[in-house]
Amino acid sequence: MTEAAPNTTEDPASADIREILKGGANEVRPDVLMHTAFVNTYSVLLGDELLLVDPGLQRLAPTVYEAVRAWSDKPLAAALYTHGHFDHAFGLGPWLDGGETPDIIAQERCVDRFKRYQLTDGFNARINQRQFSLPKPTFPDSFDWPTALIRDNLVKEIGGSEVHFHAAMGETDDAVYAWLPKQRYLFTGDLVVWSSPNCGNPQKVQRYPVEWAEALDEMASLGAEWLFPGHGIVVHGEDAIRNMLTDTAAWLRSVIDQVLERMNAGQTPEQIFHAVDPDPELAKRAFLRVIYDHPKFIVRNLLRLWGGWWNGNAADLLPSRWEEQGREIALLAGGVDTLVARGRTLLEEGNTQMACHVAEWATQGHPEDVPAQELKRDAYQERLTTARETMTQGIYRAAMNDAVIALGEEPAAPGRLAL
Ligand SMILES: [Zn+2]
Repeated sequence: MTEAAPNTTEDPASADIREILKGGANEVRPDVLMHTAFVNTYSVLLGDELLLVDPGLQRLAPTVYEAVRAWSDKPLAAALYTHGHFDHAFGLGPWLDGGETPDIIAQERCVDRFKRYQLTDGFNARINQRQFSLPKPTFPDSFDWPTALIRDNLVKEIGGSEVHFHAAMGETDDAVYAWLPKQRYLFTGDLVVWSSPNCGNPQKVQRYPVEWAEALDEMASLGAEWLFPGHGIVVHGEDAIRNMLTDTAAWLRSVIDQVLERMNAGQTPEQIFHAVDPDPELAKRAFLRVIYDHPKFIVRNLLRLWGGWWNGNAADLLPSRWEEQGREIALLAGGVDTLVARGRTLLEEGNTQMACHVAEWATQGHPEDVPAQELKRDAYQERLTTARETMTQGIYRAAMNDAVIALGEEPAAPGRLAL
């Protein structure tokens, strides 16, 4: 998850926090400074030492560093990467440059992640550009490697307090959550993000809904009084925290169970994709709103996890090129003009989903056709206006801009994020 979740909720237990959380750095507890800028970075004062949870983004690292140092001058004993994503694990530069020598704590698989990032830097930069509608490809290519690795669990004493680090899987395979039993503080990383779980991202590697639900149940059993999420607001109160965690686990399992049942019953990926939706009652929770990832992408992710890549359509096993398919469909329609006209009708009728299919057939088969590219531009623009999720918005905007560029027009302004 790499977008600041909304700072609004109906949960009264969090109202006091909402009052004092206005962005930037906020002392949310006498011993916890929360810096919010696209991601939450927490500094925890433990005796005479500091623990930093998620150093944050490379670009904003100096700002975070200055905010923490204005709050406390205690030495940095340890920094935790709750996972190795670019918004969480790339902000240690100013600390290390300033001569600090923290233990850099992460899950073992975080090292594998960074190695993969080195192999696929250009690819990830383009994914990021598309996902967040950035003006240019952006991805960090230098790493502050972990020095203390967790396979399952690790208990450290920092400043006289025990800190329990637990390995988990969910949005990533290298997740860690931290539990401070004396303070009853729980730092969840992106296992909690104030939106429906980012567990199906269409452009990213495998995600782990089953293990995510297990980690949520584990965390729910701890009896935390304060929950500090990777994005979004702090949650206060044992009952509010337990309900949030167990409801999110149940929401995930409502998708998982349907997919499994249908897979085992012999349904095709196509049937399963269209049939499965999350529990509608749980979906009403303020912390499960669909604003980032899409539940249908979790279905896809599970089909990939438990199945092969074949989509169930035998023609797609060794298919014709999309451009050949597009030309064939235009031929059947009586020409690309007819195809475009039908796409326009679909748009007028409000069937933007089908209009996008028609626009793809028209432009794939006839990329030089101006009305076809105009249809594609307009169809995805319409799709974009109704898309609620960051994951869908980025891809629709990129498709729209492909048509805009083909038409020699100026691409639409990038999204609101400018990293
Ligand atoms: Zn994140």
